[in-house]
Amino acid sequence: MIFKRSVTSRVLSIIAALLLVLAWIIVDCNLAGGALAGMYYQMYPWITEPLSAVQPNITVPTTPTIPTIVSTLNVKRFGDRGLYMYRAAATRDNPWYLLAAIDAVELGSCASPTTARLNQVKAKLVGTTVDQKLRAYAGNSSFVMMVKRRMSDMLRIDGLFSAAHKFPLPLNSGYTYEDSWGAERTFGGERFHEGVDLIVAKGTPIYSASYGTVTKKGWLTLGGWRIGVQDENGIYYYYAHLSEYGRFEVGDAVRPGDILGYVGSTGYGPEGTDDVMIPHLHFGMYENDVAFNPYAFLKAWR
Ligand SMILES: [Zn+2]
Repeated sequence: MIFKRSVTSRVLSIIAALLLVLAWIIVDCNLAGGALAGMYYQMYPWITEPLSAVQPNITVPTTPTIPTIVSTLNVKRFGDRGLYMYRAAATRDNPWYLLAAIDAVELGSCASPTTARLNQVKAKLVGTTVDQKLRAYAGNSSFVMMVKRRMSDMLRIDGLFSAAHKFPLPLNSGYTYEDSWGAERTFGGERFHEGVDLIVAKGTPIYSASYGTVTKKGWLTLGGWRIGVQDENGIYYYYAHLSEYGRFEVGDAVRPGDILGYVGSTGYGPEGTDDVMIPHLHFGMYENDVAFNPYAFLKAWR
């Protein structure tokens, strides 16, 4: 009986370990299982063709998997309000990226955290160090290792919250905004609102929220006079409906606080269309051309 049980438990732990590895790969790719293989091969052509054959100076990783798959910040995985929820639940002892990393590993998703769940997680994180907390949480060394991996990835997203950013309007300008991400917009057909609207008086200066380079400037049917800045992490910051531009042209470097332009109500029509809407700054953030909700970041930069 003892022998039989130990074989059974060994088999079970091997199965558990395999499932954890599979979950880890899926989470790291931010993919549903079905699309995994296609994306994997797309990202890693050298799985079929050794990279060393193409670029002999590059060391081919023996397991070309986790660290480089997360080659972007992948903010989108947090869904519409995920980041904001984690930030709101965080404490000095339990930073948001620890809570989010636990969900990423345990649930396979950071897209829909609930306050109840986050409170449960925090209650189980007993100890001082991250290792102690995670062992108290799960008592499983592979779980601890996986969560720590996720944390280091998320720490790069944490940089977006940092002091190297600035709220895009003067703090005393009387702006109002809410989490209008995804709200319905009807001009030009039904579509998804890819940003946050900051309502404020026409002529209010618009600050660059980040370091970066101006990569877009000019008229868009929806955005009116708009300007876009790309930062070194590949995040694109989009400012729309301007009444006037500042002194920056495409190709210029900007710093947080540089005046990109002034709030207006341009857009929703051919070049020069104005006053279709009330003056406001539409602020968007994109990663690899995919919009993600800037609300949590705006909150953090105030
Ligand atoms: Zn908008």
